[in-house]
Amino acid sequence: MHKDFKLPTVEHIDPVISAEIPNEKDDPELHELVTEFMIHGPCGAENPKCPCMIDNKCSKNYPKNFSEYTSIDSNGYPIYRRRDNGYCVEKSGVKFDNRSVVPYNKVLLRRYQARINVEWCNQAASIKYLFKYINKGHDRATVAIVPTDTDNDKEVAVDKIKLYYDCRYLSACEASWRIFGYDVHYRTPSVVRLPFHLPGKQQLVYGADDDIENVLNKPSVSSSMFLGWMLCNQQYEQARQLTYVEFPIKFVWKLEDRRWEPRKKGFSIGRIHAVSPTLGEPYFLRILLNKVKGPKSFEEIHTINGHECVTFRDACYALGLLEDDKEYIDAIEEASYAGSGYYLRHLFSTMLTSNSLSRPSFVWDNTWQFLSDGILYNQQLRLKSPGKFYYIII
Ligand SMILES: [Zn+2]
Repeated sequence: MHKDFKLPTVEHIDPVISAEIPNEKDDPELHELVTEFMIHGPCGAENPKCPCMIDNKCSKNYPKNFSEYTSIDSNGYPIYRRRDNGYCVEKSGVKFDNRSVVPYNKVLLRRYQARINVEWCNQAASIKYLFKYINKGHDRATVAIVPTDTDNDKEVAVDKIKLYYDCRYLSACEASWRIFGYDVHYRTPSVVRLPFHLPGKQQLVYGADDDIENVLNKPSVSSSMFLGWMLCNQQYEQARQLTYVEFPIKFVWKLEDRRWEPRKKGFSIGRIHAVSPTLGEPYFLRILLNKVKGPKSFEEIHTINGHECVTFRDACYALGLLEDDKEYIDAIEEASYAGSGYYLRHLFSTMLTSNSLSRPSFVWDNTWQFLSDGILYNQQLRLKSPGKFYYIII
């Protein structure tokens, strides 16, 4: 999000999110809406069969504690203001106070008159949650309408194939939305994928019958996006203030002319694709690309303080990037925004076996929270199913 639309601190929460019963006299409409839609429960002792109850406890931790002010706890989660002001509502014969209000937004609640839970989740991990959520697929149940033949009790042959369904129900509104071909999602701002390569190692696409001379003379050989960036640094003073990943903010890649030009409007976000540490030099080049501003040639990328290093790895060492393994810790943390625990553990074991870490235990100490992601969940799944399982936790 653009920084103008972020709500980074506690002061931003109260104007947007409420977790209290409004005054009935001041705002009778909102009071009624909160009573109808935004009260959690009854659960607990009053209603042990409530769906939120797991092991005789409310899994959503209601009722919450009273709190005079909104604050953020040590894990970065918000504690909303729930003042002990004596305001109460009654539902199903049970009395509720501010401790049982599900956080809501006044405007949305008034407008849509429905239960809309609004939460402050200003954490990078939320993005991962969101992507997991939209990619997990639809919740499904198999429902069938079958005639009951109570008159004659004769054996009916079971058609096992017919019993197996793998289908999906589309409601009328979703079906028409898709028939008319409306967008299901969109992305903004645009993200530019920034390729890079070692000297003379740019990728080239050609047909089996192409003449090698023609292939080597293709414009894409001498003007890759990456080479174009260094060329642009030679031409424009302002380009030299930017790293490669920052480049699309101020410059735009003209595909027809195969060159970068100063951007006239808008901006894009650049992304350099991830590289496995096992690849060696490309990995170290990527590290440098995130640090070095405005190099005009490959030599300048691995020239540190006037001294030209032989390899990109040496240049990383000269910059002090590898001695404390910080880059590897950063790599695991960066991967954790999008990758599952399984992927991260695989990445860490690759680092271990490739012998690139100077202090593996230090890396572990700083990343175990990411690496253990999902372990407890996996364990629960295993415990529920019979049979023997062994865990190897690195
Ligand atoms: Zn509950």
